[in-house]
Amino acid sequence: MHVPTTPEFSFRVSHEQGAARAGVFATPHGVVETPAFMPVATQGTIKGLSMDEVASAGGRMVLSNAYHLYLRPGDMMVRALGGLHAFARWNGPMLTDSGGFQVFSLAKLRTVHEDGVVFRSHLDGSLHEYGPEAVMRIERNLGADVIMQLDELIAGQAGESAARGAMERSLRWLARCRAEFDRIERDGRAPLGLTTTDAVLPADLPSLLPADPERERIAPTQALFPIVQGGTHPELRRASVAGILATGDWHGIAIGGLSVGESKADMYATLEVCEPVLPTGLPRYLMGVGFPDDLVEGVRRGIDLFDCVAPTRMGRDGTAFTPDGKVQIRKGSHRTDRRPLVEGCGCPGCTRYDRAYLRHLFVAEEMLGLRLLALHNLTFLLDTMRDARAALRDGVFDAWSERWLARYRATTSASP
Ligand SMILES: [Zn+2]
Repeated sequence: MHVPTTPEFSFRVSHEQGAARAGVFATPHGVVETPAFMPVATQGTIKGLSMDEVASAGGRMVLSNAYHLYLRPGDMMVRALGGLHAFARWNGPMLTDSGGFQVFSLAKLRTVHEDGVVFRSHLDGSLHEYGPEAVMRIERNLGADVIMQLDELIAGQAGESAARGAMERSLRWLARCRAEFDRIERDGRAPLGLTTTDAVLPADLPSLLPADPERERIAPTQALFPIVQGGTHPELRRASVAGILATGDWHGIAIGGLSVGESKADMYATLEVCEPVLPTGLPRYLMGVGFPDDLVEGVRRGIDLFDCVAPTRMGRDGTAFTPDGKVQIRKGSHRTDRRPLVEGCGCPGCTRYDRAYLRHLFVAEEMLGLRLLALHNLTFLLDTMRDARAALRDGVFDAWSERWLARYRATTSASP
C-alpha cells in the first residue's frame, strides 16, 4: 500500500503503547494532534456554541454533514458563499460525512439500488438521488479537508448475508467515489451558475458568481477517506479492509457501521478484528462513537479520530460527563450543591458556576443551561483525549486508561 502524494496531508505516529498511538495528522487547514475528538457541526454549527467557544475548549478539527448542507442551504450555495470553511468561519481542519447515515436514518421513502439511494427530503418531501458521484460533487463543493465516501448502512445486528451485501456494495461505491473524486481533481468542478440535477440553484445565486470562474472551478485540496464496513462479522471486516487497500492509495481510513445498535462488547471486539489489518501509517477514524468510555476503549484499540453528537445532545438534555460517570443536573440532590460540576475542569460552567445554579437553569428552562452543559461535555471529551495523548507521550497509557475506566465505571451504569 502506498500513501498518495498530496503533500498537504500527512500522518506521523510519534508514540505507541500496545495498539494505542499518539500522532500528528496534517491537513491544508492545520495539524491535529491525535488521538482526537472532532466536535460535530451537523448544519455547519456545533449546536448552541460558537466556533470560537469550540476552539477555546480545545477543538481542532470539526465535522459537518453533507446530507444536511446539500438539502439546506445547498452545496452550490455554500460554494458560492466561499466554501464551508469561510461560510462557517472555521479556519481549522474540517471533515464532511457523506450523509449516508442520514439518508438511511432521516430520509423518507428511500429506495436503495446499485446506483445509489432515492429518497424524499425530511424537510419538504422533495425527491433526491444520492449516488457515489453526486456525493463526491456535493462534498467537493462544500470543500472540507477530509471527505467521506458514500456507504450503505445496515442495522448493528444485521445477519451475515445483509452485512456482506452492504459491505460489498460499499466497496463498489468506493471505487466510483474515487473515480469521480479523481475526475474532479483533473477536470475541475462544474461551473457555478449552471443548474444541474444535483442542485436547484436559487434565483439570486448569479449575484454571487466569482470574478474568475475558471479559477473558482479548481477543487480545493481534499483527502477522500474510505469506510470499513461488515457489521459485527470478523471475516467481512477483514475482507472490507483488504478490498479498500486494493482499491487505491489513501490518506486515512474510517471504521463505520458501529454504535448502531450492537452491544458495546461487539463494538470493541470488531475494533480488535480491524486493528491488526489496518495500515499503521494512516489515521484511523471511528465514526459516530463518542461516549467518554468508548473514546478511551477506542484509543486502546488503535483509533486516532472520533466524532459524535453525544456531548452536545446529552448536554441539552441535562446530562453531564464527569470522571465519575454521567450526572443528571436536574436531580433534586443538586439543589443546594455548591460544588462545581467537575473540580478542575476549565470550562465556563465549571469555573464560574456551581451545580445548584446549573440545576436552577435547567429547571427554569433557561437556554444558558443547555449551552453551558454542551460546552462542558465537549470540553470533557477534548480534555480526555488531551490526557490520553499526554499519557502516550509519557509511556504510561496502559495504567492511565485502566485507572480512568475504573473510576468512570465505578458509579456509571453504562459499562458493557
Ligand atoms: Zn466543565
